[in-house]
Amino acid sequence: MIILDLHLEDSDGIEILHHLNEINYPGHIILCSGLDSRLINASDAIARQLGLKMLPAIQKPIKIRELKNILENYWSCDPDISCESIHRGIDLNQFTIHYQPKMKISTLDVIGLEALIRWNYNDELLLYPDAFIPIAEHSHAIDTLTEWLIDQVLQDIQEWRKKGFDLSVAINIPANFLVNPNIPQILTSKIQTYGTPLSAITFEITETGVMALPNITKDIISRLRIRGVSFSIDDFGTGYSSLISLHNIPFNELKIDKIFIMNLHEDEDAQKIVNAAINLAHNLGMTVVAEGVENRQSLNVLRDLGCDIAQGYLIAKPMPKEELTAWLENQEYQAWKDL
Ligand code: C2E
Ligand code: CA
Ligand code: CA
Repeated sequence: MIILDLHLEDSDGIEILHHLNEINYPGHIILCSGLDSRLINASDAIARQLGLKMLPAIQKPIKIRELKNILENYWSCDPDISCESIHRGIDLNQFTIHYQPKMKISTLDVIGLEALIRWNYNDELLLYPDAFIPIAEHSHAIDTLTEWLIDQVLQDIQEWRKKGFDLSVAINIPANFLVNPNIPQILTSKIQTYGTPLSAITFEITETGVMALPNITKDIISRLRIRGVSFSIDDFGTGYSSLISLHNIPFNELKIDKIFIMNLHEDEDAQKIVNAAINLAHNLGMTVVAEGVENRQSLNVLRDLGCDIAQGYLIAKPMPKEELTAWLENQEYQAWKDL
Protein backbone atom coordinates (compact mmCIF):
# COMPACT_ATOMS: atom_id res chain seq x y z
CA MET A 1 0.00 0.00 0.00
CA ILE A 2 1.16 3.50 -0.80
CA ILE A 3 0.18 6.70 0.97
CA LEU A 4 0.85 9.36 -1.66
CA ASP A 5 1.14 13.11 -1.12
CA LEU A 6 -0.03 15.12 -4.15
CA HIS A 7 2.57 17.79 -3.60
CA LEU A 8 6.10 16.45 -4.12
CA GLU A 9 9.51 18.14 -4.45
CA ASP A 10 10.25 17.72 -8.18
CA SER A 11 7.15 15.86 -9.31
CA ASP A 12 3.46 15.70 -8.48
CA GLY A 13 1.15 12.98 -7.25
CA ILE A 14 -0.73 12.65 -10.56
CA GLU A 15 2.49 11.92 -12.43
CA ILE A 16 3.26 9.20 -9.88
CA LEU A 17 -0.26 7.79 -10.32
CA HIS A 18 0.32 7.49 -14.08
CA HIS A 19 3.62 5.76 -13.42
CA LEU A 20 1.99 3.33 -10.97
CA ASN A 21 -0.61 2.57 -13.63
CA GLU A 22 2.10 1.89 -16.25
CA ILE A 23 3.84 -0.63 -13.99
CA ASN A 24 0.46 -2.22 -13.12
CA TYR A 25 0.92 -1.50 -9.44
CA PRO A 26 -1.30 -4.10 -7.72
CA GLY A 27 -1.60 -2.55 -4.24
CA HIS A 28 -3.91 0.07 -2.79
CA ILE A 29 -3.25 3.81 -2.70
CA ILE A 30 -4.34 6.53 -0.27
CA LEU A 31 -4.01 10.11 -1.50
CA CYS A 32 -3.21 12.66 1.13
CA SER A 33 -2.68 16.37 0.75
CA GLY A 34 -2.90 19.75 2.38
CA LEU A 35 -4.34 21.14 -0.89
CA ASP A 36 -8.04 21.93 -1.19
CA SER A 37 -10.50 19.05 -1.15
CA ARG A 38 -11.74 19.63 -4.74
CA LEU A 39 -8.24 19.10 -6.07
CA ILE A 40 -7.81 15.98 -3.96
CA ASN A 41 -11.16 14.62 -5.20
CA ALA A 42 -10.28 15.36 -8.83
CA SER A 43 -6.93 13.53 -8.46
CA ASP A 44 -8.69 10.64 -6.79
CA ALA A 45 -11.16 10.45 -9.71
CA ILE A 46 -8.28 10.39 -12.24
CA ALA A 47 -6.66 7.51 -10.36
CA ARG A 48 -9.90 5.52 -10.22
CA GLN A 49 -10.43 6.08 -13.96
CA LEU A 50 -6.97 4.63 -14.56
CA GLY A 51 -8.15 1.54 -12.70
CA LEU A 52 -5.88 1.97 -9.69
CA LYS A 53 -7.14 0.59 -6.38
CA MET A 54 -7.94 3.68 -4.34
CA LEU A 55 -8.84 3.89 -0.67
CA PRO A 56 -10.56 7.06 0.64
CA ALA A 57 -8.33 10.14 0.32
CA ILE A 58 -7.38 12.11 3.41
CA GLN A 59 -6.76 15.76 4.10
CA LYS A 60 -3.62 16.93 5.86
CA PRO A 61 -2.93 17.31 8.72
CA ILE A 62 -3.68 13.62 9.01
CA LYS A 63 -6.07 12.67 11.81
CA ILE A 64 -4.90 9.38 13.28
CA ARG A 65 -8.45 8.16 13.89
CA GLU A 66 -9.41 8.76 10.24
CA LEU A 67 -6.36 6.85 8.99
CA LYS A 68 -7.03 4.07 11.50
CA ASN A 69 -10.62 3.67 10.22
CA ILE A 70 -9.49 3.48 6.62
CA LEU A 71 -6.81 0.91 7.43
CA GLU A 72 -9.15 -1.21 9.57
CA ASN A 73 -11.74 -1.32 6.77
CA TYR A 74 -8.99 -2.15 4.33
CA TRP A 75 -7.72 -5.10 6.37
CA SER A 76 -11.22 -6.46 6.83
CA CYS A 77 -12.33 -6.20 3.19
CA ASP A 78 -9.12 -6.88 1.35
CA PRO A 79 -7.41 -9.72 3.14
CA ASP A 80 -3.78 -10.61 2.64
CA ILE A 81 -3.96 -14.07 1.10
CA SER A 82 -0.57 -15.68 0.71
CA CYS A 83 1.23 -18.87 1.57
CA GLU A 84 2.49 -17.20 4.79
CA SER A 85 -0.91 -15.86 5.86
CA ILE A 86 -2.51 -19.29 5.24
CA HIS A 87 0.10 -20.95 7.49
CA ARG A 88 -0.51 -18.22 10.08
CA GLY A 89 -4.27 -18.86 9.78
CA ILE A 90 -3.72 -22.56 10.47
CA ASP A 91 -1.58 -21.74 13.53
CA LEU A 92 -4.24 -19.32 14.77
CA ASN A 93 -6.95 -21.95 14.29
CA GLN A 94 -8.83 -19.69 11.86
CA PHE A 95 -9.87 -22.43 9.44
CA THR A 96 -13.12 -24.24 9.88
CA ILE A 97 -15.19 -26.82 8.03
CA HIS A 98 -18.77 -26.60 6.86
CA TYR A 99 -20.45 -29.89 6.05
CA GLN A 100 -23.08 -30.40 3.35
CA PRO A 101 -25.31 -33.50 3.48
CA LYS A 102 -25.54 -36.06 0.66
CA MET A 103 -28.80 -37.95 0.28
CA LYS A 104 -29.47 -41.39 -1.20
CA ILE A 105 -32.16 -40.72 -3.78
CA SER A 106 -33.96 -44.09 -3.58
CA THR A 107 -34.50 -43.99 0.22
CA LEU A 108 -34.11 -40.24 0.97
CA ASP A 109 -31.65 -41.15 3.74
CA VAL A 110 -28.63 -38.97 4.52
CA ILE A 111 -25.63 -41.20 3.88
CA GLY A 112 -22.71 -38.81 3.86
CA LEU A 113 -21.34 -35.29 3.86
CA GLU A 114 -18.94 -33.15 1.90
CA ALA A 115 -16.36 -31.19 3.91
CA LEU A 116 -16.02 -27.63 2.57
CA ILE A 117 -13.33 -25.46 4.05
CA ARG A 118 -13.86 -21.85 5.25
CA TRP A 119 -11.44 -19.27 6.66
CA ASN A 120 -12.55 -17.11 9.60
CA TYR A 121 -10.20 -14.38 8.48
CA ASN A 122 -11.37 -12.00 11.20
CA ASP A 123 -14.54 -11.25 13.20
CA GLU A 124 -16.29 -9.78 10.16
CA LEU A 125 -14.91 -11.78 7.29
CA LEU A 126 -15.54 -15.42 6.42
CA LEU A 127 -13.58 -16.37 3.32
CA TYR A 128 -14.88 -19.05 0.91
CA PRO A 129 -12.46 -21.51 -0.67
CA ASP A 130 -12.45 -19.88 -4.10
CA ALA A 131 -10.68 -16.90 -2.47
CA PHE A 132 -7.73 -18.85 -1.08
CA ILE A 133 -7.53 -22.44 -2.40
CA PRO A 134 -6.07 -21.39 -5.81
CA ILE A 135 -3.35 -19.43 -3.95
CA ALA A 136 -2.74 -22.32 -1.53
CA GLU A 137 -2.46 -24.69 -4.50
CA HIS A 138 0.47 -22.69 -5.86
CA SER A 139 2.49 -23.39 -2.73
CA HIS A 140 2.99 -26.04 -0.08
CA ALA A 141 0.25 -24.37 1.96
CA ILE A 142 -2.28 -26.69 0.29
CA ASP A 143 -0.58 -29.78 1.74
CA THR A 144 -0.63 -28.33 5.27
CA LEU A 145 -4.27 -27.31 4.79
CA THR A 146 -5.29 -30.73 3.41
CA GLU A 147 -3.55 -32.59 6.25
CA TRP A 148 -5.21 -30.29 8.79
CA LEU A 149 -8.58 -30.93 7.13
CA ILE A 150 -8.14 -34.72 7.12
CA ASP A 151 -7.32 -34.68 10.85
CA GLN A 152 -10.40 -32.58 11.62
CA VAL A 153 -12.69 -34.71 9.48
CA LEU A 154 -11.46 -37.96 11.05
CA GLN A 155 -12.15 -36.54 14.53
CA ASP A 156 -15.58 -35.24 13.52
CA ILE A 157 -16.56 -38.59 11.97
CA GLN A 158 -15.71 -40.27 15.28
CA GLU A 159 -17.87 -37.80 17.21
CA TRP A 160 -20.82 -38.48 14.91
CA ARG A 161 -20.29 -42.23 15.13
CA LYS A 162 -20.45 -41.98 18.95
CA LYS A 163 -23.82 -40.22 18.53
CA GLY A 164 -25.00 -43.05 16.27
CA PHE A 165 -24.57 -41.35 12.88
CA ASP A 166 -22.58 -43.55 10.57
CA LEU A 167 -21.59 -41.09 7.87
CA SER A 168 -18.93 -41.06 5.20
CA VAL A 169 -17.25 -37.74 4.45
CA ALA A 170 -15.96 -36.49 1.10
CA ILE A 171 -12.79 -34.41 1.18
CA ASN A 172 -11.63 -32.26 -1.75
CA ILE A 173 -7.97 -32.84 -2.50
CA PRO A 174 -5.72 -31.41 -5.19
CA ALA A 175 -4.28 -34.07 -7.52
CA ASN A 176 -0.75 -33.23 -6.36
CA PHE A 177 -1.52 -34.27 -2.81
CA LEU A 178 -1.21 -37.90 -3.84
CA VAL A 179 2.27 -37.56 -5.30
CA ASN A 180 3.81 -38.35 -1.91
CA PRO A 181 4.29 -42.16 -1.80
CA ASN A 182 4.01 -42.06 2.01
CA ILE A 183 0.37 -40.94 1.90
CA PRO A 184 -1.12 -44.45 2.39
CA GLN A 185 1.09 -44.88 5.47
CA ILE A 186 0.35 -41.40 6.82
CA LEU A 187 -3.38 -42.02 6.44
CA THR A 188 -3.21 -45.42 8.03
CA SER A 189 -1.47 -43.99 11.10
CA LYS A 190 -4.04 -41.18 11.34
CA ILE A 191 -6.77 -43.81 11.23
CA GLN A 192 -5.10 -45.62 14.12
CA THR A 193 -4.96 -42.36 16.08
CA TYR A 194 -8.63 -41.51 15.61
CA GLY A 195 -10.11 -44.99 15.19
CA THR A 196 -12.07 -44.00 12.07
CA PRO A 197 -12.25 -46.59 9.29
CA LEU A 198 -10.78 -45.55 5.95
CA SER A 199 -14.03 -46.64 4.32
CA ALA A 200 -15.61 -43.51 5.86
CA ILE A 201 -13.49 -41.31 3.60
CA THR A 202 -14.00 -40.30 -0.02
CA PHE A 203 -11.41 -38.20 -1.78
CA GLU A 204 -12.78 -35.91 -4.50
CA ILE A 205 -10.43 -34.83 -7.28
CA THR A 206 -11.71 -32.54 -10.03
CA GLU A 207 -12.00 -33.92 -13.54
CA THR A 208 -9.33 -31.44 -14.67
CA GLY A 209 -7.10 -32.59 -11.80
CA VAL A 210 -7.64 -36.24 -12.74
CA MET A 211 -6.35 -35.56 -16.24
CA ALA A 212 -3.16 -34.10 -14.77
CA LEU A 213 -2.51 -37.00 -12.40
CA PRO A 214 1.08 -38.19 -12.63
CA ASN A 215 1.51 -41.97 -13.01
CA ILE A 216 2.63 -42.48 -9.42
CA THR A 217 -0.73 -41.27 -8.13
CA LYS A 218 -2.54 -44.09 -9.95
CA ASP A 219 -0.49 -46.48 -7.86
CA ILE A 220 -1.35 -44.59 -4.66
CA ILE A 221 -5.05 -44.37 -5.53
CA SER A 222 -5.12 -48.12 -6.08
CA ARG A 223 -3.38 -48.74 -2.74
CA LEU A 224 -5.84 -46.48 -0.92
CA ARG A 225 -8.81 -48.08 -2.69
CA ILE A 226 -7.59 -51.48 -1.45
CA ARG A 227 -7.57 -50.02 2.09
CA GLY A 228 -11.19 -48.90 1.69
CA VAL A 229 -10.95 -45.22 0.65
CA SER A 230 -13.37 -44.13 -2.09
CA PHE A 231 -12.33 -41.86 -4.96
CA SER A 232 -14.67 -39.50 -6.75
CA ILE A 233 -14.25 -37.52 -9.99
CA ASP A 234 -15.52 -34.06 -9.04
CA ASP A 235 -17.05 -31.43 -11.34
CA PHE A 236 -17.58 -34.06 -14.02
CA GLY A 237 -18.50 -32.51 -17.35
CA THR A 238 -16.38 -29.37 -16.95
CA GLY A 239 -13.01 -30.91 -17.87
CA TYR A 240 -11.90 -32.95 -20.83
CA SER A 241 -11.47 -36.49 -19.65
CA SER A 242 -11.33 -39.35 -22.09
CA LEU A 243 -13.20 -42.57 -21.47
CA ILE A 244 -9.87 -44.40 -21.49
CA SER A 245 -8.55 -42.40 -18.56
CA LEU A 246 -11.77 -42.94 -16.61
CA HIS A 247 -11.32 -46.61 -17.18
CA ASN A 248 -7.62 -46.66 -16.27
CA ILE A 249 -7.82 -44.99 -12.86
CA PRO A 250 -9.82 -46.90 -10.27
CA PHE A 251 -12.32 -44.20 -9.28
CA ASN A 252 -15.56 -45.55 -7.86
CA GLU A 253 -17.70 -42.40 -7.90
CA LEU A 254 -18.62 -39.79 -10.48
CA LYS A 255 -19.87 -36.41 -9.32
CA ILE A 256 -21.75 -34.53 -12.01
CA ASP A 257 -21.06 -30.79 -11.94
CA LYS A 258 -23.76 -28.44 -10.72
CA ILE A 259 -23.92 -26.49 -13.99
CA PHE A 260 -25.85 -29.45 -15.46
CA ILE A 261 -27.98 -29.99 -12.37
CA MET A 262 -29.16 -26.60 -11.12
CA ASN A 263 -31.76 -26.19 -13.92
CA LEU A 264 -32.02 -29.82 -14.90
CA HIS A 265 -35.83 -29.88 -14.79
CA GLU A 266 -36.13 -27.32 -17.61
CA ASP A 267 -32.98 -28.02 -19.63
CA GLU A 268 -33.42 -30.90 -22.08
CA ASP A 269 -29.81 -30.84 -23.26
CA ALA A 270 -28.58 -31.08 -19.67
CA GLN A 271 -30.91 -34.05 -19.16
CA LYS A 272 -29.33 -35.85 -22.14
CA ILE A 273 -25.80 -35.17 -20.84
CA VAL A 274 -26.69 -36.27 -17.31
CA ASN A 275 -28.40 -39.39 -18.63
CA ALA A 276 -25.29 -40.29 -20.66
CA ALA A 277 -22.99 -39.66 -17.68
CA ILE A 278 -25.11 -41.82 -15.38
CA ASN A 279 -25.16 -44.70 -17.89
CA LEU A 280 -21.42 -44.43 -18.49
CA ALA A 281 -20.63 -44.38 -14.76
CA HIS A 282 -22.97 -47.27 -13.97
CA ASN A 283 -21.52 -49.35 -16.82
CA LEU A 284 -18.08 -48.78 -15.27
CA GLY A 285 -19.44 -49.82 -11.87
CA MET A 286 -19.33 -46.32 -10.38
CA THR A 287 -21.78 -44.58 -8.06
CA VAL A 288 -23.21 -41.30 -9.37
CA VAL A 289 -23.62 -38.14 -7.27
CA ALA A 290 -25.40 -35.03 -8.58
CA GLU A 291 -24.34 -31.78 -6.90
CA GLY A 292 -26.24 -28.48 -7.04
CA VAL A 293 -29.73 -29.96 -6.63
CA GLU A 294 -31.78 -26.85 -5.94
CA ASN A 295 -35.38 -27.90 -6.53
CA ARG A 296 -37.70 -30.86 -6.17
CA GLN A 297 -38.39 -31.16 -9.93
CA SER A 298 -34.70 -31.66 -10.67
CA LEU A 299 -34.49 -34.27 -7.91
CA ASN A 300 -37.41 -36.11 -9.55
CA VAL A 301 -35.63 -36.03 -12.92
CA LEU A 302 -32.48 -37.42 -11.28
CA ARG A 303 -34.48 -40.22 -9.65
CA ASP A 304 -36.06 -41.11 -13.02
CA LEU A 305 -32.62 -41.14 -14.66
CA GLY A 306 -31.32 -43.55 -11.99
CA CYS A 307 -28.89 -41.19 -10.24
CA ASP A 308 -27.76 -42.60 -6.88
CA ILE A 309 -27.01 -39.63 -4.62
CA ALA A 310 -28.07 -35.96 -4.48
CA GLN A 311 -26.41 -32.98 -2.83
CA GLY A 312 -27.56 -29.37 -2.95
CA TYR A 313 -29.34 -26.44 -1.37
CA LEU A 314 -32.69 -28.27 -1.71
CA ILE A 315 -31.53 -30.78 0.89
CA ALA A 316 -29.33 -28.44 2.95
CA LYS A 317 -26.66 -25.78 2.61
CA PRO A 318 -23.20 -26.44 4.03
CA MET A 319 -23.31 -25.96 7.82
CA PRO A 320 -20.82 -25.75 10.71
CA LYS A 321 -20.40 -29.05 12.59
CA GLU A 322 -22.67 -28.14 15.54
CA GLU A 323 -25.48 -26.98 13.26
CA LEU A 324 -25.14 -30.11 11.15
CA THR A 325 -25.27 -32.31 14.26
CA ALA A 326 -28.48 -30.53 15.38
CA TRP A 327 -29.89 -30.97 11.85
CA LEU A 328 -29.16 -34.70 12.05
CA GLU A 329 -30.49 -35.04 15.61
CA ASN A 330 -33.71 -33.20 14.80
CA GLN A 331 -34.04 -35.50 11.80
CA GLU A 332 -35.01 -32.50 9.69
CA TYR A 333 -34.33 -34.55 6.59
CA GLN A 334 -37.08 -36.99 7.58
CA ALA A 335 -39.58 -34.37 6.36
CA TRP A 336 -38.47 -35.34 2.88
CA LYS A 337 -40.11 -38.70 3.18
CA ASP A 338 -43.53 -37.11 3.68
CA LEU A 339 -43.35 -35.00 0.52
P1 C2E B 1 -17.02 -28.19 -5.11
O1 C2E B 1 -16.21 -29.33 -4.63
O2 C2E B 1 -17.68 -28.32 -6.45
O3 C2E B 1 -18.08 -27.91 -3.95
C1 C2E B 1 -19.40 -27.63 -4.15
C2 C2E B 1 -19.65 -26.14 -4.08
O4 C2E B 1 -20.98 -25.90 -4.49
C3 C2E B 1 -19.55 -25.61 -2.65
O5 C2E B 1 -19.08 -24.27 -2.71
C4 C2E B 1 -21.00 -25.64 -2.20
O6 C2E B 1 -21.29 -24.73 -1.16
C5 C2E B 1 -21.72 -25.27 -3.48
N1 C2E B 1 -23.08 -25.81 -3.53
C6 C2E B 1 -23.58 -26.85 -2.86
N2 C2E B 1 -24.87 -27.07 -3.17
C7 C2E B 1 -25.20 -26.12 -4.06
C8 C2E B 1 -26.44 -25.80 -4.76
O7 C2E B 1 -27.48 -26.45 -4.61
N3 C2E B 1 -26.39 -24.76 -5.61
C9 C2E B 1 -25.26 -24.01 -5.80
N4 C2E B 1 -25.34 -22.99 -6.65
N5 C2E B 1 -24.10 -24.28 -5.18
C10 C2E B 1 -24.06 -25.32 -4.31
P2 C2E B 1 -17.85 -23.81 -1.82
O8 C2E B 1 -17.98 -24.36 -0.45
O9 C2E B 1 -17.73 -22.35 -2.00
O10 C2E B 1 -16.62 -24.54 -2.47
C11 C2E B 1 -16.12 -24.14 -3.70
C12 C2E B 1 -15.02 -25.05 -4.17
O11 C2E B 1 -13.85 -24.93 -3.35
C13 C2E B 1 -15.38 -26.53 -4.06
O12 C2E B 1 -16.17 -26.85 -5.15
C14 C2E B 1 -14.01 -27.19 -4.05
O13 C2E B 1 -13.52 -27.33 -5.37
C15 C2E B 1 -13.16 -26.17 -3.33
N6 C2E B 1 -12.95 -26.61 -1.94
C16 C2E B 1 -13.80 -26.54 -0.90
N7 C2E B 1 -13.25 -27.04 0.22
C17 C2E B 1 -12.01 -27.46 -0.14
C18 C2E B 1 -10.92 -28.10 0.57
O14 C2E B 1 -11.01 -28.40 1.74
N8 C2E B 1 -9.79 -28.38 -0.15
C19 C2E B 1 -9.69 -28.11 -1.48
N9 C2E B 1 -8.56 -28.43 -2.10
N10 C2E B 1 -10.69 -27.51 -2.17
C20 C2E B 1 -11.82 -27.20 -1.51
CA1 CA C 1 -16.19 -31.33 -4.28
CA1 CA D 1 -18.04 -30.18 -7.49
